[in-house]
Amino acid sequence: MTPEKSKSSLRIGSSQIRLLERLCNACAVSGDEGEVRKIVLEQVKPHADEVKVDALGNVLVTRLGAGEGRLRVMLAAHMDEVGFMLTAEDGEGFYRFDTVGGMDVRALVGKAVWIGREHLPGVIGAKPIHMAEKDELKRVIALDALRIDTGLGNKKLKIGDRAVFATNFARHGPSLHAKALDNRLGVATLVELVKHAPANIDLLAAFTVQEEIGGRGARVGAFALDPHLAIAIDSTPAYDLPPAEERENLRYNTRLGGGPAIYVADAGTLSDPRLIRHLVTTAEALSIPYQMRQPGGGGTDAGAIHQQRAGIPSVSVSVPGRYAHTAVSIARISDWQDTLSLLYAALERLTPVLLSEER
Ligand SMILES: [Zn+2]
Repeated sequence: MTPEKSKSSLRIGSSQIRLLERLCNACAVSGDEGEVRKIVLEQVKPHADEVKVDALGNVLVTRLGAGEGRLRVMLAAHMDEVGFMLTAEDGEGFYRFDTVGGMDVRALVGKAVWIGREHLPGVIGAKPIHMAEKDELKRVIALDALRIDTGLGNKKLKIGDRAVFATNFARHGPSLHAKALDNRLGVATLVELVKHAPANIDLLAAFTVQEEIGGRGARVGAFALDPHLAIAIDSTPAYDLPPAEERENLRYNTRLGGGPAIYVADAGTLSDPRLIRHLVTTAEALSIPYQMRQPGGGGTDAGAIHQQRAGIPSVSVSVPGRYAHTAVSIARISDWQDTLSLLYAALERLTPVLLSEER
């Protein structure tokens, strides 16, 4: 049997990668998403029936379909990224800071950062190895012992300014290396879907704020959009490193090259079984690679969305990425392509019958 073809398959080409580069190099720590919001607005406005920026800063986009009995489908992608917030000035160009979103303090020392809306340079410094005692090297440095050092180079910093890892986007062969691939991959995917929405549905796109600190934007976005069902588009950690010792890597979470990760369960959501089935059936019918994300921790905007109003059937689909929430992540262009293809085909095949199916 030859697989059936989706009517239109969207491609990840050089213009999509250029847009992702702009999105990844922009700084948008939770609560300060303006830089990414500006790019999103510029991209979606020509293709939308309605575009709103709500009270929290979510970009809510409506693109209406045509014909009878259309489902209202919410697609959510968070614009924010994990990062830092300056909390106190310590003199001599040093600043105390706090982390925003889930971060591993062990991954901070020695990293360059961009601070504030002007991307001013700084460094998260620590005592050099020359001065460190042997047992000191075995301990994790506490967050409150770390400072962002501007080298007295910046005069314009304020308490509350955000900072991010200073990592420029790069493409190397089949892979993308960048900060904030979680979730600019989702944002770039959703921009494509807004531009080329299938006509059988009303597409309600929510580019959300404050996901990394608990899905706060998605909660109000879902209430406002009042959809029949929702899909969160995100990036999930790939845990596919070669084993370094016996106990390591017995359980893969997701792998690069395995295609989009479909969620069954995470810390915040049990995905709607009808939506899981729809995604899997679509992928199999069109021979699109996919993987089931190992049920477990973590979460997406779906955690907030599915509990809105009288309940909204929800599922998440993620592009896998290694080293999430660190200075640089690695993702595969092929996984991004397969995620876009699967989402488009799944939307194109959605009918109201799905929601009357047994769970
Ligand atoms: Zn994310």
